[in-house]
Amino acid sequence: MRRSGGLLRQVHQVISEAVKPGVTTMDLEEIAAAKIESMGAKAAFKGVKNPGHSDFPAVLCTSVNNEVIHGIPSPKRILNEGDIISVDCGLILDGYYSDSAVTYPVGRLGLGARKLLDVTKASLEQAIQECQIGQSLGDIGAAVQDLCEGAGFGVVREFVGHGIGKHMHEDPQVPNYGRRGKGAKLKAGMVLAIEPMINAGSAEVKVLKDGWTAVTVDGSLSAHFEHTVAITKDGPLVLTR
Ligand code: MG
Ligand code: MG
Repeated sequence: MRRSGGLLRQVHQVISEAVKPGVTTMDLEEIAAAKIESMGAKAAFKGVKNPGHSDFPAVLCTSVNNEVIHGIPSPKRILNEGDIISVDCGLILDGYYSDSAVTYPVGRLGLGARKLLDVTKASLEQAIQECQIGQSLGDIGAAVQDLCEGAGFGVVREFVGHGIGKHMHEDPQVPNYGRRGKGAKLKAGMVLAIEPMINAGSAEVKVLKDGWTAVTVDGSLSAHFEHTVAITKDGPLVLTR
């Protein structure tokens, strides 16, 4: 899983260099697909089923501005100065999954967008610090919730983090809200995908007719940062760093 996560970090490296005004979300998809193929890994998202809708068609989820997660890359979606774009990617290497998301700034951001990215990223780091043996899932959720709601932001409830290993989504669910000391205890060997999804406005989200793209109901910006984190006796080991 560490090797899988290391390759995934390289995908994010090429994406971070490619994000700029004038680029389309399909350009990012093509860059990522080529990188994944060159490394000999397999994309985890492409072909994921969704009953009543099309299979997910891409290696990346690209979610711009008010899109929360699961945005579909398109040659028509051109990034503009001041946009934010959440890029989520998963890899499979020798049967082991990794999952990581970053919200990238497109050029210079306004103050509101900058604060949303900074706070969401900081909430992931605080959640990672809770990944110690004997801590609980509630400690992870509370770390995210306290920081983000304290900043006046909405914490998305409908989507949560998850265990990860030989499947993309394994038990337990890892909510971005909770009470300290509540929920399952963390044990050595557990690996969690921790992924705060934070809205600048209300926490409410809805899914568009494509069956995939989740957007904020109030149209506010949304950010998403995710790492795959192993619980070890020496503390948290971030496999996608
Ligand atoms: Mg993800
Ligand atoms: Mg995930």
